Amino acid sequence: MMNYEALADRVLQGETLTDAEAMAILESPDDDLLPLLHAAYKVRKHYYGNKVKLNMIINTKSGLCPENCGYCAQSIVSKAPIEKYAMMKQEEIVAGAERAASVNAGTYCIVASGRGPVNRELEIVIDSVKEIKSKHADMTVCACLGILKPEQAKRLKEAGVDRYNHNINTSAAHHSSITTSHTYDDRVNTVESAKEAGISPCSGVIVGMREMKEDIIDMARSLHALDADSIPVNFLHAVDGTPLEGTNELTPRYCLKVLSLFRFINPTKEIRISGGREVNLRSLQPFGLYPANSIFIGDYLTTAGQESDRDRQMLEDLGFEVDLEPLKKTPATV
Ligand code: SF4
Repeated sequence: MMNYEALADRVLQGETLTDAEAMAILESPDDDLLPLLHAAYKVRKHYYGNKVKLNMIINTKSGLCPENCGYCAQSIVSKAPIEKYAMMKQEEIVAGAERAASVNAGTYCIVASGRGPVNRELEIVIDSVKEIKSKHADMTVCACLGILKPEQAKRLKEAGVDRYNHNINTSAAHHSSITTSHTYDDRVNTVESAKEAGISPCSGVIVGMREMKEDIIDMARSLHALDADSIPVNFLHAVDGTPLEGTNELTPRYCLKVLSLFRFINPTKEIRISGGREVNLRSLQPFGLYPANSIFIGDYLTTAGQESDRDRQMLEDLGFEVDLEPLKKTPATV
């Protein structure tokens, strides 16, 4: 058996996993799962103790997107029967922040479908964020509005946006199998624009989109190179009517190996078990919090999450605590 604990110690000393070691984690026998999780927890605990960050999403604009992302129920090519609506009003967005505060979600994520925000949409988000920040100064506000121009990033920063999410989603090599309406570089450039504006970058992936294990390793390394502070790891919940309909290639044990790999490659970062947690990790969800230190509570963009009471119970049962610390720069990348 691979010495996972020694690997954790090396990671804590600033070493990087070799490709062979990274692959060995993804291909590790199921019998190794507990030693692997134990080692991943050693790294997670070093930086985050037993704290779990809670994030809550609001989908401020649903569907009506001209892009063709194969996993997304909101895209122009999706036939999924989702609710479609234009950008919400400021009051509704602010009311969502109140709901997030009431369940101790430290981060409120303002998400909108589309290639990128038009002026009117950007202004609504800006005004909403100003109002939210005037009421909840310690709440981390994250915006996720698609491809962003540098001047738009600047305006969001001035309004008080702490974090910007734009996922790389998959590896550079696999990207064109998932969407052809924008490029991998478009995505990376948006993360860079957010960083240049002084906004903390959040960027993550969707696992289970018919990629190879090499792609998973590449994604984890790309996010390390991008220095993403927050890394949502989604597990594909293929929605009927989307191009990826019927794709169901993950097991709960494999998801845990992926999360452990992400912790080893991005030891200091906030790693969030994101969309698809309930359907893919199923009864093993609690184990995911040994490598990861963050979850979404409430619903996802177009699919329902489990009730926040059950998540709260899960944390309590694990002996973990909600992380209420306001955002600060994650520890320097090793
Ligand atoms: S992921 Fe975003 S850009 Fe892609 S289709 Fe969905 S809403 Fe549009």
